[in-house]
Amino acid sequence: TPRIGVLALQGDVREHMAALTAAGAAAGPVRRPGELAEVDGLVIPGGESTTISKLAALFGMTEPLRERIAAGMPVYGSCAGLIMLADKILDPRSGQETFGGIDMIVRRNAFGRQNESFEAAVELAGVAGGPVEGVFIRAPWVESVGAPVEVLAEHRGHIVAVRQGNALATSFHPELTGDHRVHGLFADMVRAAG
Ligand code: GLN
Repeated sequence: TPRIGVLALQGDVREHMAALTAAGAAAGPVRRPGELAEVDGLVIPGGESTTISKLAALFGMTEPLRERIAAGMPVYGSCAGLIMLADKILDPRSGQETFGGIDMIVRRNAFGRQNESFEAAVELAGVAGGPVEGVFIRAPWVESVGAPVEVLAEHRGHIVAVRQGNALATSFHPELTGDHRVHGLFADMVRAAG
């Protein structure tokens, strides 16, 4: 059973833990470097990327996270978590830093005021059995990607799911649906890396 942590500084931590458990993983919260050292993979939840960035610095987690991600630890980020995995943010708040790991530029709150929250069926490469229900909440999109990045899904012509090596990211929140296929895909990535 893969041990998968959920970065528990801010965001929808409980929902990710429930989805991971349903997908057959052993899930637990990660707040400290010592807890990070004990997991085989990590989820970075949805929430508010500026807050996650600040709290990670406060908890001494920024460098340990960067190092483990760079060393190939499997990692999955949804929404704010996708932003945290971007090598670059198009419109960062002052002082907003990411952990990086995916060679992409993201645009925060990209889908705009009229569509701050919406749901849409999303065809996701690597996930069999039909489209997933994409829950988008003040969601980012991926503005551009570098050569190592595989685009897994687009919505209205914008990239909303990507993978680079052991790093997976979605603009939307599968943890808020009853569908655990994305967490299942991530658990398989963690098993394969172990
Ligand atoms: N807009 C948020 C951010 O910039 C992300 C929203 C979300 O995670 N649902 O971090």
